[in-house]
Amino acid sequence: MEKIQVTKSSMPSYEEYIEEIKPIWDSHWLTNMGVFHQRLQEQLKEYLQVERLSLFVNGHMALELAIQAMNLSGEVITTPFTFASTTHAIVRNNLTPVFCDIRPDTYTIDEEKIEALITDRTAAIIPVHVYGNVCEIEKIEAIAKKYCLKVIYDAAHAFGIKYKGKGIGTYGDASMFSFHATKVFNTIEGGAICYGDKEFEKLLSQLKNFGIRDEEIVDGVGSNAKMNEFQAAMGICNLRHVEEDIKIRKAIVGQYRKKLADVKGIKLPCIQGDVDSNYAYFSIVIDEKEFGTTRNYVYDKLKEHSVYTRKYFYPLTNTFDCFRGKYNVEDTPIALYISKRVLALPLYTDLSMDKVEFICDKIKDIQR
Ligand SMILES: *Cc1c(COP(=O)(O)O)cnc(C)c1O
Repeated sequence: MEKIQVTKSSMPSYEEYIEEIKPIWDSHWLTNMGVFHQRLQEQLKEYLQVERLSLFVNGHMALELAIQAMNLSGEVITTPFTFASTTHAIVRNNLTPVFCDIRPDTYTIDEEKIEALITDRTAAIIPVHVYGNVCEIEKIEAIAKKYCLKVIYDAAHAFGIKYKGKGIGTYGDASMFSFHATKVFNTIEGGAICYGDKEFEKLLSQLKNFGIRDEEIVDGVGSNAKMNEFQAAMGICNLRHVEEDIKIRKAIVGQYRKKLADVKGIKLPCIQGDVDSNYAYFSIVIDEKEFGTTRNYVYDKLKEHSVYTRKYFYPLTNTFDCFRGKYNVEDTPIALYISKRVLALPLYTDLSMDKVEFICDKIKDIQR
């Protein structure tokens, strides 16, 4: 049987990409902020409706270097219900993550529980727009203002989302977008930081280029995290089709919702007002008592039918082996509950409605 993977990267046609990269053979300019880099940066500013944006080789380095650019020390309040990148970016900056529990509806950081975690060592809040669900932005912003904390959003899942009609990247001190192959919009690998502070631009361009200020002055200990021209060209091509891709995703999500609406024990993703979604993921939560069997059993059974789902996010980052003994998972009980029951179903633009139906039928069969 043909495998149904959990995701499949969006790509332009072969001809479109080849046409796009032809000028690179004339210029021999492969990386270091060339014309494609510049063009994609401008196009993304417009598409994401943000004033300032810097491109990076991937989303993780964008986040790691954005944190470094803020020159923070002490503790950062964040969520364990995320991809490894968020927590690692904090720890690799010699900061201490303090894990806050999540909301049971959107799976984003529970803003009501943030204040109790603030100490005189707290420097920032790093929330995640999980699956493209938007965090409680106004409340987080109010807390940050009250205690003079920076807010950096992990917006890796939130490409193109608008909240109250504004680009999601305009909120907080900075937001990180990922353009990894598996995301709604990709540059093969890639990422960006959006930010308000003008000074930040120079800092970020230094940090992603070895701390080099100009030809003869190196006054920062930077990394190397530049997006190259082939990545940027892929982005320029994919950006032409992203609106259409999101429409297709919306239709697929609509079909999943219809087919799974009255299956007992399955909680469907929430729908948020004020949010223009990008339909990045379709993650269901399976309650073993009501559904009749566990998430893990459904995962295994679907695999037998060549349907590959993903336990996303599982495990929680505060239970990773590399942090053994450091954090207490009992501090984030809702995150723990969700991580044991959540299952991301296949979602990509080539996924046919027949396949969506097949997947839903199999889930119903497993229940029987
Ligand atoms: C994908 C992802 C990242 C990292 O992005 P890369 O571009 O793969 O480095 C960070 N956080 C979250 C929540 C992600 O899903």
